[in-house]
Amino acid sequence: MSAVVRKLRETVCRLHDELVRYNLVAWTAGNISGRVPGEDLFVIKPSGVSYDELSPESMVVCDLDGEPVGGELSPSSDTAAHAYVYRAMPRVGGVVHTHSTYASAWAARGEAIPCVLTAMADEFGGEIPVGPFALIGGDDIGKGIVATLEGHRSPAILMRNHGVFTIGADARAAVKAAVMCEDVARTVHVARQLGDPLPIPRPAVDSLYDRYQNVYGQRSPR
Ligand SMILES: [Zn+2]
Repeated sequence: MSAVVRKLRETVCRLHDELVRYNLVAWTAGNISGRVPGEDLFVIKPSGVSYDELSPESMVVCDLDGEPVGGELSPSSDTAAHAYVYRAMPRVGGVVHTHSTYASAWAARGEAIPCVLTAMADEFGGEIPVGPFALIGGDDIGKGIVATLEGHRSPAILMRNHGVFTIGADARAAVKAAVMCEDVARTVHVARQLGDPLPIPRPAVDSLYDRYQNVYGQRSPR
């Protein structure tokens, strides 16, 4: 196995700790994958293994059809969706799936999260959109993700009646989007309890998004 794959297995394994730390997962219902740079492969969580028991060696390497390449463990049951996204969106280097509580509550209602916080404008560049209802297995979930997120600034999508998928330039960026998605889903939900959240005018959303994506933070990779 190449040094690149070994390192990515470590990275993807370790990132699952963040799903637990930020309370985004119950039992084993959440998974992360990362694309192997320069190869038609990605690394993903094994199916049904608890987060405590994950090790770099247990991460499953798959081709872009979602078929495991060697190894003994079966990949996550969401592997087909991850694979579809990698095939269709070359810019994507990481995919995350969770059923995080507040975001999934919006998904259960089939309601996009409106852009009513500057943090949403920063990270998502607008609302967090809703994708179609789709059953697991086959390409339906992947198709729904790609059709909704292509041409959309948001790296997060709420799949109707299901949960969250996020994308990023790498696995860490996709995890960050999943954490931020749940955070704003919770805040906007709370705001809704007391009244109507105020929309942010589009030019201000554009300005915030541009600043955050291009100027904010350190010069080195975020
Ligand atoms: Zn799911």
